[in-house]
Formats: sequence, C-alpha cells, structure tokens
Amino acid sequence: RAKDLGKNNVQIFTSSMNIQTYKIFTLERDLRKAIQRNELELYYQPKVNVYSGEIVGAEALVRWNHPEWGLVSPNEFIPLSEETGLSAALSSWVKLTACQQNKEWQQAGLPAIPISINVTAKRFLFKDMVDSIQLVLRETGLDPQYLEVEITESSLLENEDAVMTTLDALNKLGVKISLDDFGTGYSSLSYLKRFRQKINTLKIDKSFIHDMHPGNDDNAIIHMIIQLAQHMNMSVIAEGVETEEQLYLLKQLQCDVVQGYLFSKPVQAAEFAEILKQGHIPIVNSDVAADFEN
Ligand code: C2E
Ligand code: MG
Ligand code: MG
Ligand code: MG
Repeated sequence: RAKDLGKNNVQIFTSSMNIQTYKIFTLERDLRKAIQRNELELYYQPKVNVYSGEIVGAEALVRWNHPEWGLVSPNEFIPLSEETGLSAALSSWVKLTACQQNKEWQQAGLPAIPISINVTAKRFLFKDMVDSIQLVLRETGLDPQYLEVEITESSLLENEDAVMTTLDALNKLGVKISLDDFGTGYSSLSYLKRFRQKINTLKIDKSFIHDMHPGNDDNAIIHMIIQLAQHMNMSVIAEGVETEEQLYLLKQLQCDVVQGYLFSKPVQAAEFAEILKQGHIPIVNSDVAADFEN
C-alpha cells in the first residue's frame, strides 16, 4: 500500500542519506505541488523612517508551509526552484500575490506604500520579466509606483544590453528598482556608474549592519555606501537592523530608512495590515548617545 511505501521511502532515505539530503529530496519533490496546495505564503516586513517611525514601504518575503518540515526558508527552496524549472511559476505567484495584497490594502483605506518583491538574477533577465510585471499590474490595478523590484548585484553582471533594456523598461513602467545585499556581490563601482540612473535604492547588506559597533573601522564602509548613494541621487536603506545601537549609529551616518527585527520581523499579511493601519512604528529612544558612546 501507498502508506507503507511512504514509510519505506523514509527508511531508505534516512538510512542512506543524511537528514539535509533527505530534506532537499522531499522539498524538490513537493515544490511543484506547493503552489496548487496553497502552501506558499508571503510575509511582510516594514521599511521604517528612522526619525518618524513612519512605514515607508515593505518587503514581501516568501515562506513555504511544508506539511512535513514546517516553515521552510526561501534560502532553501528558491535555489531548488531554479534547478527544477519551477522558478517562473513561483515568481509569478509572488508577483501576483504581492500586488493583489497591496491593492487590497489600499482599497481598504490603509496607507499606500510600495511593496518590494525579490527577483533572482536568472529571472531578472528572462525575456518575459517586464511583460509579466506589466500584466500583473494591469490585472490587479495596482499603480506601478507601489511595486518595487529587489535585484542583486549579480543581475547586473550579465549581458549589459539586456540589463539596460530591462532596467529601462521597468523605469518606463514606473516600477522602482533597488539593489539588494549591496556590498556583498561581485560587482564593481563601474557597474554602479553604468546603471545608476536606473536604480532607485541601495540596500546595505545586513552583514555590514551586524558588525556595527562604536569605533569599528567597518562603519566606514557603511558610511561610504551611504555617501555614494547620496551623491548618485539614490535612496539608501539598511537591512538587518536589530539593536538600538545600530540604529543610533546609522542615524549618525544619515541613513534615513531601515528594516530589521528591531522594528518588526517579517509577519503574516493580517498582522502586517494591523501595523500598516497605525502607519508608523513607535521608535525606540536611540538618541541617548551616552548609552552607546562609552
Ligand atoms: P533578502 O532579500 O536580503 O531579505 C532579507 C532577509 O533578512 C530576509 O530573510 C529577512 O527575514 C531577514 N531579516 C530581516 N531583518 C532582519 C534582522 O534584523 N536580522 C536578521 N538576522 N535577518 C533579518 P528571509 O525571509 O529568510 O529571506 C532570505 C532571502 O531569500 C532573501 O534575502 C531573498 O534573497 C530570498 N527571498 C525571499 N523571498 C523571496 C521571493 O519571494 N523571491 C525570491 N526570488 N527570493 C526571495
Ligand atoms: Mg530583498
Ligand atoms: Mg538583502
Ligand atoms: Mg539576501
């Protein structure tokens, strides 16, 4: 019987593979059905103005509620989706869900904010990328200014003409573009120079924020990124802000927008709607310099 067979499967795989390999095997096997079975879910994390606490945007982050493994991180299944040819389906689902949700919130009278989605380098340069975004905007009726696309530096390393065409098309549509995990990729400043007019925001990677301490030399790197953004007329946002100390230091460097557990973890749609209803998150009292400077 199927049930026994399932059990045997588990036995075979756990005896000959380690748990991680078994997990990947099952995730790969189940991913195709995950969308139909409604197992995917978007979580939302606010982007916050450090002075007012105002919510100026949000990032949509996908989760998979897997029947056996529980909540699975996108770091685990996004790569699998690309290997198994499911990335188009997954990407479509994310786009549609984020735009539909945002439109719904606006129609319910919640503050209108841009919501960003993550797009892998591979998907970014697919021919149908721009068309599919345009289609989703039309289907959902969402004003393009409320959609943002987060790409990584590696997206810029591919065929230069194709990158330029895609960025231009998104600019023309009115969709915003941010450069995610900035500072960790392989790209150089010459890429930034080339594409700077087409990119709205630099997102400082959380690894830099994690290492922020008063007097740490690494703070100079963050300072440089912030100034670079300012000089190039881009916005800048710090991701992974967890402590008041980091917030304090970022404010000193004139980083106006942050995202991180200090304000909110990524939360389910219903919970995010509650936060958005308030319009802002009470900001912690990070102006007490004395707490951090000695
Ligand atoms: P990312 O785009 O750089 O997203 C930021 C990650 O940092 C998220 O992890 C978020 O939950 C986490 N984070 C936010 N604040 C903090 C903090 O204060 N401290 C720490 N330690 N972490 C924080 P998550 O949700 O696990 O996503 C991981 C990566 O998976 C994302 O990195 C993104 O590259 C990818 N991803 C997530 N959702 C999607 C999606 O819908 N499509 C695609 N293609 N990739 C996605
Ligand atoms: Mg991102
Ligand atoms: Mg990031
Ligand atoms: Mg990342």
